[in-house]
Amino acid sequence: MSEPTPPHVVVLGGGSAGWITASLLHRRWGERGGRVTVVEDPATGIIGVGEGSTPQLKALFDYLGIAERDWMVRCDATYKLGIRFTGWSERPGFESYFHPFPGPVDLHSEPAFLRNCALARRAFDVACLPDRFFLSARLAELGRSPHPSENFPFAPSYGYHFDAYKLGAFLKEWGAARGIEHVAAKVTGVPLDQDGNVAALLCDDGRRLDGDIFVDCSGFRAIIAEGALGARYRSFDDNLFNDRAVVLPGPRPQDFRPQTESVAMSAGWRWSIPLTGRTGNGYVYSSRHISDEDAERELREATGLRDPAAEARFLKMRVGRLETSWTANCLAAGLSQGFIEPLEATALHIVIATATEFADAYEEGGFSAKYRDRFNDQIAERYDAIRDYIVAHYRLNQRSDGSYWRENAENSKLSDRLKAMMTAWFTHKDIGAANVELYPVQAYSSASWHCLFAGYGSFPPQEKFVTCPPQAQPAEMSRLDAMMKACTINFPSAGIGGPAD
Ligand SMILES: Cc1cc2nc3c(=O)[nH]c(=O)nc-3n(C[C@H](O)[C@H](O)[C@H](O)COP(=O)(O)OP(=O)(O)OC[C@H]3O[C@@H](n4cnc5c(N)ncnc54)[C@H](O)[C@@H]3O)c2cc1C
Repeated sequence: MSEPTPPHVVVLGGGSAGWITASLLHRRWGERGGRVTVVEDPATGIIGVGEGSTPQLKALFDYLGIAERDWMVRCDATYKLGIRFTGWSERPGFESYFHPFPGPVDLHSEPAFLRNCALARRAFDVACLPDRFFLSARLAELGRSPHPSENFPFAPSYGYHFDAYKLGAFLKEWGAARGIEHVAAKVTGVPLDQDGNVAALLCDDGRRLDGDIFVDCSGFRAIIAEGALGARYRSFDDNLFNDRAVVLPGPRPQDFRPQTESVAMSAGWRWSIPLTGRTGNGYVYSSRHISDEDAERELREATGLRDPAAEARFLKMRVGRLETSWTANCLAAGLSQGFIEPLEATALHIVIATATEFADAYEEGGFSAKYRDRFNDQIAERYDAIRDYIVAHYRLNQRSDGSYWRENAENSKLSDRLKAMMTAWFTHKDIGAANVELYPVQAYSSASWHCLFAGYGSFPPQEKFVTCPPQAQPAEMSRLDAMMKACTINFPSAGIGGPAD
């Protein structure tokens, strides 16, 4: 099939999703004659949160050919080796665990982790907190950079923390220098043609923006996808109770660790994200379980940020996804497309996957229904798989206090697949095989599922323990500790802010 002519893409929205999508599609099609225009209303502004990423953001910068030394300093960015979950379990020894991004050294230690988890599921008293088995956890604890010395070619995967406003500004400048057109105007009309495609975007200054593909990155407003095209929305709120966040920046971190912290609170959890110039703090909570005032008070107490001059910002969140991310000639990306909740910092990860997979599908089949449907199924599958993993955090919490945590632990509205995954864990089945069967998209690895279950100390109840021991021998922890220690020596201090320090 001959390749379709590179399109003119018009992106509505200049938040992180808008600029990431614009940069990626321009990189893909710009040199072949494709055009990208971004229109944004400066008066509306961006949501300005979303400061943690997965390794997918590194892959994006590598694809764009932007070096860390060129963007990290400009965006107050730091490295992120994973997420530390604290206070989600009251079980002694499981009060806190680290969910790492994987790396090559883990290929050696992960089998030992899985073996010990299998034994712990059978009531053997063995080490099974992820922290001791994954190099990233050790490096984060020691405040080390993910870049090893030259004689140690085993770098772990990593993501970043960054200032969302500065990231958008950086990509805008980068894109403008490479030919992405920028229009500062409010979009007030989205006329459709007779086939139901978007014909153009009409701006409040009288401009009309024509294009072949329109990307809706207008945030929770979803102006094109839902507003003009009527794409249907599927809410996740029966499974994910959090619908608000309060945000409160704090001073630059003193004791720097390249990790996001997720600490359980009375009606949700709070994040702590180390940037070079400040600490990003926020409390994601359920308005059914706590008022805005009490959430702010709890966040201030937890962070010590009691000075009322430091103003808190409140955000409403809508959790769910569009049934189809690609409708007619419109792709939705970012908050307009869907939002799970920020616990695993996956939103920009999905934006990058969406733009990449859309470009693949468009190159293969243009606007043909076959490729569009396949793309929509893949993206929906990715959302639902990530949602299940996040729901599992709440369902498996091991806290005894308060209606919020009790209701989460008793939630029976789980998807069939998540129920099957939990059954597999509690009945000693092979989690790797269950993950492949239940979640072919592999949004989370078998190791990640083990981290979640074992990290909370969530094991089969006593009466369901299988008495006959498996053949596996427990890991030799002293040898593993020694190996990890030897590895960490090869990684310098992360300082604060990566390559500039
Ligand atoms: C509490 C919270 C924490 C989060 N944490 C993370 C995280 O750690 N990691 C992560 O990956 N994601 C996180 N996210 C999600 C992340 O913030 C978003 O995915 C990301 O910022 C992208 O937002 P966006 O670009 O879709 O929308 P926005 O930032 O809201 O941008 C919308 C854009 O549309 C423009 N616009 C709107 N209407 C019009 C109009 N009529 N005309 C012209 N322009 C218009 C606006 O001007 C703006 O430029 C978090 C979200 C929340 C709520």
